[in-house]
Amino acid sequence: MGLSFYNTLSKSKESFQSIEEGKIKVYTCGPTVYNYVHIGNLRTFLFEDLLIRYLKYLSYQVTHVMNLTDVDDKTIRGAKEKGQALKEYTLFYSEAFFRDLKTLNALPADFYPAATNHIKEMVDLIKILLNKAIAYQTEDGSIYFSIRKFKDYGALSGMKPDNLLDGASGRVSNDEYSKEEMKDFVLWKAYDLEDGDVFWETELGKGRPGWHIECSAMSMKYLGESFDIHCGGIDNAFPHHENEIAQSEAATGKKFVHYWLHSAFLNVNSEKMAKSKKNFYTLKDLLEKDFAPMSIRYSLITTHYRQPLNFSEELIAQSDAALKRVKEFVSSLKYIKTEKRFNGFEKIIQEAREGFVSHMNDDLNISPAMASVFDFIRKVNGLKDELGEKDARQALDFIGEINQVVGVFQFEDEILEEEILNLIEERNQARREKNFKKSDEIRELLLAKGILLKDTKEGTQWQKTS
Ligand code: AMP
Ligand code: ZN
Repeated sequence: MGLSFYNTLSKSKESFQSIEEGKIKVYTCGPTVYNYVHIGNLRTFLFEDLLIRYLKYLSYQVTHVMNLTDVDDKTIRGAKEKGQALKEYTLFYSEAFFRDLKTLNALPADFYPAATNHIKEMVDLIKILLNKAIAYQTEDGSIYFSIRKFKDYGALSGMKPDNLLDGASGRVSNDEYSKEEMKDFVLWKAYDLEDGDVFWETELGKGRPGWHIECSAMSMKYLGESFDIHCGGIDNAFPHHENEIAQSEAATGKKFVHYWLHSAFLNVNSEKMAKSKKNFYTLKDLLEKDFAPMSIRYSLITTHYRQPLNFSEELIAQSDAALKRVKEFVSSLKYIKTEKRFNGFEKIIQEAREGFVSHMNDDLNISPAMASVFDFIRKVNGLKDELGEKDARQALDFIGEINQVVGVFQFEDEILEEEILNLIEERNQARREKNFKKSDEIRELLLAKGILLKDTKEGTQWQKTS
């Protein structure tokens, strides 16, 4: 089966076709950098990482843009409370965010545009909408998008402005609001004393942009007026993405995004994990409880992205166990050193690969995809005595291949192990040649690396000193 995704726009699974052959352009809504992100946010960012990694695995050339929302009500309020300049305040949380992504082994995006560096692009876009009379200015100087002037408004969320009750029209000036408040939304907020020293003097007057226009302006700047995939958490679909479509398509007259992918929430006791509900964990909270970063990553990516996921410590313990199984498998393969070959081993690998790919092609159906990998491990474990070194190497390469997509199996220890085994072999050679000076030197060298050697009847064994 070819690659397919559930598109929120059509509310159906569609086979995927990139605009340009072999290339895919992806925009993912990044964090509002007013605080540390919580692991609910990270679930969404890791779903996006899994998507990008899988597209790369399929050999697409991917351009990934993730914005940073570094000006909005929350960042302005936070900076004011801390007595810091907005830039200083948001930079601190942007850096914390990048550290979290790195800890969880997410691939860096190609661009991380910050809203405050793209005010001109936003002003230009708003000017186009004003010229087309799709946007209008109110007495206080703010500028709004007239949703009735854009006939497709509501296509993503399934709501139609025509269905609004009489008297429900009007305007909304906050960035986040519910479907019941489907109204003209703000593109440019005229300066308000609450904004303190956060404002831009532009052709539109003194003020700052609304949240939605940020993503239209920055996505189109880096990816073009039409691009392939746009992602976010499901709470972004309305109003944020609905408004992005309206602003962009009203300005360009072109289809903005071909595939909209939205992830479900990470919940705690069946409730969305959210800052406002105070039911959240940051990554730091979990690391302080001694959970391994890769177990956290594994926990967040291995439930299908459109399924709500309930967070629990038990979930991380299960991930620990799964990763341990892979680690033991990888370690045991290193000890296979015989020359023999297992007839048909390539076929076993190929079947596992096909299982993995066919499920991932099906809207990133990760659970059965991983089940194919674990079936493979079980099968190979049962065949161990019949495998030779070359077979073992192929099995390791296959695990490495899967790891390009899931990014959870860290092989540093195994690489170290390879190095240790090579040094032990060199030492054995030295001992056979009665070169005890060299043999002692290797023992000392390994000891300095924290590895203690023990010569036994079965050969030389090693263990870590700490
Ligand atoms: P924000 O910083 O609030 O704009 O959120 C950043 C990203 O995290 C957005 O794509 C949100 O949709 C997503 N998000 C927020 N809360 C959750 C949650 N509990 N589970 C999954 N994704 C979330
Ligand atoms: Zn956005």
